[in-house]
Amino acid sequence: MRFPWRLNYDLTKYIVKNKLKKIDKFPLVLMLEPTHLCNLACSGCGRIREYAGTIKEMMSLDACLGSVDQCPAPVVTITGGEPFLYPHVYELIEGVLERGKHIYLCTNGLLLDQALDRMRPHDNFTLNIHMDGLEGTHDRILERKGTFKTAIEGIKKAKKLGFRVCTNTTIFKETDLLEIEMLFSLLTEIGVDGILVAPGFGYEAVGEKLFLERREIEKKFEHVFDLSKKFRFYSTPMYMQFLKGEKKLECTPWGNPTRNPRGWKAPCYLITDEHYPTYGEMMAKTDWGKYGVGKDERCAQCMMHCGFEPTVVSEIGKSWKDIWEMMKWNMS
Ligand code: SF4
Ligand code: SF4
Repeated sequence: MRFPWRLNYDLTKYIVKNKLKKIDKFPLVLMLEPTHLCNLACSGCGRIREYAGTIKEMMSLDACLGSVDQCPAPVVTITGGEPFLYPHVYELIEGVLERGKHIYLCTNGLLLDQALDRMRPHDNFTLNIHMDGLEGTHDRILERKGTFKTAIEGIKKAKKLGFRVCTNTTIFKETDLLEIEMLFSLLTEIGVDGILVAPGFGYEAVGEKLFLERREIEKKFEHVFDLSKKFRFYSTPMYMQFLKGEKKLECTPWGNPTRNPRGWKAPCYLITDEHYPTYGEMMAKTDWGKYGVGKDERCAQCMMHCGFEPTVVSEIGKSWKDIWEMMKWNMS
């Protein structure tokens, strides 16, 4: 099975419960950013630029766990910044696991070697390592030599210790897809459990011509779709069909609510109009109808997983064909 049975079970139970209660807006993944502090300055990173003024701020452990309690999402992505720079990261991981939730911890891998000695493998815990190409490309995008080798060594050690590991690759304008195929072969060879792929989002704060526009994304992802047949992708088949222009999806901005040191970020993980003090206020006060492709010009080129994977998940029940496809994919 592609995903652990416990994750499938908890997600299905949660979605069915919300549908039976006729709740139409419910979150799937809490994006928790305890700090935006990072040990890198990657060329495509919107976070360290948007939050440059508050980059040293950190949420308290209580505020982090309080956010996990406020937001009913069954999955928590601990991200940042670099989460291993957050001094309470290990207590945070344990606290989230104690609450029976699932964790994806996103890291650039630089501090993974030491961190692995302070964590334990758990059915509900997955490490998600940022990998943007083979050595030359990855080190150039992350703007530091040695980042590729360190991340690969970290992945090997994590697998040896029994951790579940996936990787996350961003496709930029200049990404060479033959190189990405070689990268995925290498990651598969060293035992990575799943591969996530998405186009980069054109952050205003980055302001560089790194990012693909909609038509270019659809063209590039025709090839990436072929790769999804060859390698063990965690990105869903419906999302991949959407990325190559074969399927229409509306965005679900509340699917991945984001909490960071400034508060609950609205309307989504990618664009910011407001920070609210509580999850409830963010959900109630955001005018959701204002956002999405064709409604807000910042959304025009967006095809990001945080906006569209939740749509895939909440739409699955609508078509038997999609249910069957997802079951087959998950079992493969
Ligand atoms: S490692 Fe992540 S948070 Fe840090 S600069 Fe790179 S993309 Fe941004
Ligand atoms: S389309 Fe993208 S940027 Fe716009 S609200 Fe949805 S997820 Fe956010």
